[in-house]
Amino acid sequence: MLISYPTFAERARALLDRIAELCAECGREPSEVNLMAVTKTHPLEAAEYASRFGLACVGENRVQEGVEKIRRADFPIRWELIGHLQSNKAALAAKYFARIQSVDRAKLIARLDACLREDEPALPILLQVNTGEDEAKFGASVAEAPRLLEAALAAGSLRVDGLMTIAPLARDPEVARRAFACLRELRDELAARFGVALPELSMGMTGDLPEAIREGSTCVRVGTALFGERPG
Ligand SMILES: *Cc1c(COP(=O)(O)O)cnc(C)c1O
Repeated sequence: MLISYPTFAERARALLDRIAELCAECGREPSEVNLMAVTKTHPLEAAEYASRFGLACVGENRVQEGVEKIRRADFPIRWELIGHLQSNKAALAAKYFARIQSVDRAKLIARLDACLREDEPALPILLQVNTGEDEAKFGASVAEAPRLLEAALAAGSLRVDGLMTIAPLARDPEVARRAFACLRELRDELAARFGVALPELSMGMTGDLPEAIREGSTCVRVGTALFGERPG
């Protein structure tokens, strides 16, 4: 059962306050950190809450589930794909999502580029890098990242906004902090080497928000703290 809108609004306000507090602690501006509501497994109404509250974007981790919601949505919000994307669903994802955060291999870059038309605006993407070297997670390795960025920059129909990572689940917050610091350092290195900006660092979820903000996150992807535990 989805929570009520007033409960959502209260949680969203508390979360924005918390983000502002964490930003103040490390000398950052809260406006540098975008709050994405992760609506996966929840009904379409969850995304409508985010829109009504004034959040800019929602995240879905499955193409099919996301597309079904996007088709039905009659309110303004930006939909982003944050979950693993199979190559055979690349065209569908490119058609419906405003940005794909989970681009992690050359084959997928080629597929996306092939299904986009050159006379249309470029599709914004993030490269997902498994900086925590978590076996259970998708994402390119740090070593593969330069080759991947090179391919993405060469693909005329993609626009690389930056990098994304999911930290390993661990009791010690230091594990997440290291994974986030690694993503930031990788971004700095790649930006210098390829002469591109890569402003977006998508990192941090309900369980590792402070570490992500301290290490420079520009997009925190939050589900549980906004909507409660997911069913199933
Ligand atoms: C589910 C998910 C989130 C949100 O996780 P919470 O712990 O519920 O905040 C963030 N990012 C990705 C990629 C996810 O799949």
